[in-house]
Amino acid sequence: MGKELINWENGRWIGQTLEVENGVCAVPSIPAKDEAGELAYTDEVKAATDHLYDDVKDFIPEFEWPAYAPLVHAINKLKRQKNAVILAHNYMTPDIFNLVGDFRGDSLGLAIEATKTKADMIIQGGVHFMAETSKILCPNKKVFIPSMRAGCSLASSITGEDVKLIKQKYPGIPIVTYVNTSADVKAESDICCTSSNAVAIVEHITKERGVNKVIMLPDEFLAKNVAKQTDVQVISWHGRCEVHARFSAQDVRDMRAANPGVVVLAHPECPPEVVSESDFTGSTKAMSDYVGDHKPGKVILLTECSMSDNVAIANPGTDFVRPCNLCPHMKRVTLENIYECLKNETNEILIDEDMRDKAYDAVMRMIEVKFDPIKGHFDPKAKEKFIKVI
Ligand code: SF4
Repeated sequence: MGKELINWENGRWIGQTLEVENGVCAVPSIPAKDEAGELAYTDEVKAATDHLYDDVKDFIPEFEWPAYAPLVHAINKLKRQKNAVILAHNYMTPDIFNLVGDFRGDSLGLAIEATKTKADMIIQGGVHFMAETSKILCPNKKVFIPSMRAGCSLASSITGEDVKLIKQKYPGIPIVTYVNTSADVKAESDICCTSSNAVAIVEHITKERGVNKVIMLPDEFLAKNVAKQTDVQVISWHGRCEVHARFSAQDVRDMRAANPGVVVLAHPECPPEVVSESDFTGSTKAMSDYVGDHKPGKVILLTECSMSDNVAIANPGTDFVRPCNLCPHMKRVTLENIYECLKNETNEILIDEDMRDKAYDAVMRMIEVKFDPIKGHFDPKAKEKFIKVI
């Protein structure tokens, strides 16, 4: 049977990520008090954490709380001792997102927080490219990723060498690179973008360079969705997010039929035909804001599973239908490996200085572009456009 990760039931996350090998569950168990040391569920831990349980009571069964509370307590103590912060992406499980995350948000929000924090250490609650982005922006801080296996199908679809070849083939056309890429790819790019600001960045860089064409790397679907919102011509790469690419237009129609009146929000990494079937399309932050502002009775977020769990905690009045596509990379980050990483300072992110310098320019150019957040929303009804995919 091999190794698998389980943490959901009936399409819904129900507790801590469990690594199962050949049918045997490796973690977690509640350690006996005398063996557990600083991870024992003592009266002190109970007193310090009881008030936190309410935030995650829908996701962590009460009998499992004594396994979580000592880790949460130890992580929060270590953060204070080491002047560390945890940047938690919206796709982190609710225990990480709500109980130990210091800053929570989408890639853009976390990158901006990385530039502002006074902490000495950053633990990235997210995947490897996000930790690299933090290191690119904060060369003098120690940046760690709890699991080196927390990758991304988009980031692994392209290398810096690929970008050099693209530049030779298309000289003079600005390269706009999604932040979901490795540092060597960013270093070869003119400017980065996120799903919040992609349309604004494409329009900004083409205006600045006096051209009407960009190369958008590496997400084919994001590029196609951006192309629908602008007159700029877009050339793209063939990368895909393995989570969002799984949604289909038929899925949306079936979910609507099963849930009359439901509001469908889609992430722009979804295929364009899925975006066309949605009521609203935007970044994870835009989706979260939409639910907070519009308070729909029933909603579907076409994105990674944990996003619905986290937005549901903040919006108890909304009923969430959870189609649940899980990102295996995001789920490699757990309370256990955050604790190990903080305690032993393992998995530090190191980047060659020349590469970091070039990647810094591409990321900072993005951060400096001021844009109207409404510009970050994608009109689902916009007409599809043909784009070249290389
Ligand atoms: S959800 Fe998609 S884009 Fe995000 S880390 Fe996972 S594979 Fe990459």
